[in-house]
Amino acid sequence: MKLPGWLAQHWAGRDRYLILIDSPDPYGQFESLRSFWAADPQRCRDLHIVGFIDTAPDNVQRVDAHEGRVTLTLHRGPPVVTVRRMRLAADVVLFGDRSATDPRLLEWLARKASARGAQLAGPVTEQTRAVLGRLGFRPEYQSTEHLADSAALPTDALWQRSSRVVELPTARVSAGARLAIVIGAGLAGSAVAAELAQRGWEVQVFERHGVIAAEASGNPVAAFRPHLSLDDCALSRLSRAGVQALHRSLERHGAYADKLAERTGLIEVADSPDDLRRLAALAQAYSARAGKGLGEVELRDRHAASNKAGAALRSGGLWLREAGWVRPPALCARWLCEDQKGLPWASRIIVRRGVEVDDLRAEGGHWVVRDRDGNELAHSSVVVLANTQTAASLAERAGGLINALLAVPGSIGRFAIDQLPGVQCALSGAGYLLPPTAGEVIAAADYDGGPHNSNALAELLMDCPNAVVPKFGTRSSVRYATRDHLPVAGEVPVAVSLGSEVDAPLPKIARLPGLFVLTGYGSRGLVWSALLAQLVAARINGEPDPLDAALVDAVDPARFWRRDRLKRTITA
Ligand SMILES: Cc1cc2nc3c(=O)[nH]c(=O)nc-3n(C[C@H](O)[C@H](O)[C@H](O)COP(=O)(O)OP(=O)(O)OC[C@H]3O[C@@H](n4cnc5c(N)ncnc54)[C@H](O)[C@@H]3O)c2cc1C
Repeated sequence: MKLPGWLAQHWAGRDRYLILIDSPDPYGQFESLRSFWAADPQRCRDLHIVGFIDTAPDNVQRVDAHEGRVTLTLHRGPPVVTVRRMRLAADVVLFGDRSATDPRLLEWLARKASARGAQLAGPVTEQTRAVLGRLGFRPEYQSTEHLADSAALPTDALWQRSSRVVELPTARVSAGARLAIVIGAGLAGSAVAAELAQRGWEVQVFERHGVIAAEASGNPVAAFRPHLSLDDCALSRLSRAGVQALHRSLERHGAYADKLAERTGLIEVADSPDDLRRLAALAQAYSARAGKGLGEVELRDRHAASNKAGAALRSGGLWLREAGWVRPPALCARWLCEDQKGLPWASRIIVRRGVEVDDLRAEGGHWVVRDRDGNELAHSSVVVLANTQTAASLAERAGGLINALLAVPGSIGRFAIDQLPGVQCALSGAGYLLPPTAGEVIAAADYDGGPHNSNALAELLMDCPNAVVPKFGTRSSVRYATRDHLPVAGEVPVAVSLGSEVDAPLPKIARLPGLFVLTGYGSRGLVWSALLAQLVAARINGEPDPLDAALVDAVDPARFWRRDRLKRTITA
């Protein structure tokens, strides 16, 4: 098999080339395209392939090769819904028999073709002619030999656009020097630094403390679990993608192997008969969606739950297999390659500790960060604000807007192993209790009361000692949450001249090019950090989003501003 001449011509010399494929065997087609790319000296620099398969769960998976220069982003779910939810502008769409016989699918595929000289390749039938003709495409017959050099590609004809259709957004950060600044070395900043460095970016991380993970991300151990809801809302879908991304990142970075993390599962212990009924309804809803990659979600009675936990529980509850614990400071260090200097991307990350960024401005075509005395610390075309405490004020100085962040203080208790019953899996309810690790047991009350409040633990455990004081003390910090409990990730919107954009869809709202934010992780820092780092790194690197458009919009930094403006417009 050899690379068809039309494809070689089309991708030659480009920075990025995006192929949307409709194939029953996306992995096979990815392999063919990847080997064409590897063998072509005139190839594009980065090749991104997006495919879809009609299987559960409805999520997005990524495979990459050649140090991230060739990727496959695979969307799962019902084809028409799945393609409609993609936000991308393909350079070529390879459609096959499935879309040739499904006009709605073909139409949605064609709508994902970039307005800038995109091509479609696929069969010419009465139906494809009618659907694509309506969208402004016409078939160009070329010699069969020219088109069908490769049996791996479904080509009867190349379809060229003869009129313009609506253009969808593409990445706006240009190629060139791949230098990025990340402000903040907590979970959010460390994860995005790792993702960028693995994509070949040189990353400077600024952290105002002398150590990394010094604020919210500094708890010695923290729990992760997916969120569940009866209607499988955006928070639930996003948290499921987040847990999967975290698992993959923990595996990739050896965190499970080195005991920086463990997938123990978690029991959500009911705190009342009503709560048990609520958990039963959730278990039922999730078993109806069984096989959708949700992992094990089961209601367990008190006896079975206690057996699982290895301790007598106050009540039954919901067992979630896809949950566990992580040591956040150790994970941040791993993401920043602090303990693995031999990794190929380790030398691309420089952490500047004890340096507070006080100012951020666009000057001479790039972003300049300065300290309190006005000294330039660094400049770059890409800055990621992962400094949740000061992100809004730095964005404001840069002419952007990050709003709707709420500070929620909290604390954990660090107990000696003999102070509390040792459990084998994580427990949650009004508070949470984690399995013993590194000689201590971490417990926390949910929001108020603090870890001294043994009521929270007494609601979980039968044999909870009264008013037990944590032997190793408490640790207090502040997490930043949002009104809708979803995190904030993406390009920072421009603060001024937004008036005319109230009706604009989120992707059309003006942004500060190259200025990104990761914040508002609330109590789910672990669940969001790997996934949203991938989202922002993919945006910076011009790759397809690793999430569908609805979930990308759900975390968009401009969403609160837009909702507030809409409300004001309606009530005025
Ligand atoms: C009591 C408590 C318990 C929690 N338990 C869990 C749990 O079990 N599971 C879970 O997933 N999550 C938990 N969380 C939430 C989790 O800790 C946070 O969501 C997460 O740590 C947020 O990460 P971050 O990187 O956004 O913020 P941070 O960790 O606060 O990192 C921001 C960093 O930016 C730095 N910075 C700020 N401004 C500047 C500047 N101008 N220049 C340079 N550096 C700057 C800060 O020093 C800081 O290091 C808990 C939170 C609390 C408070």
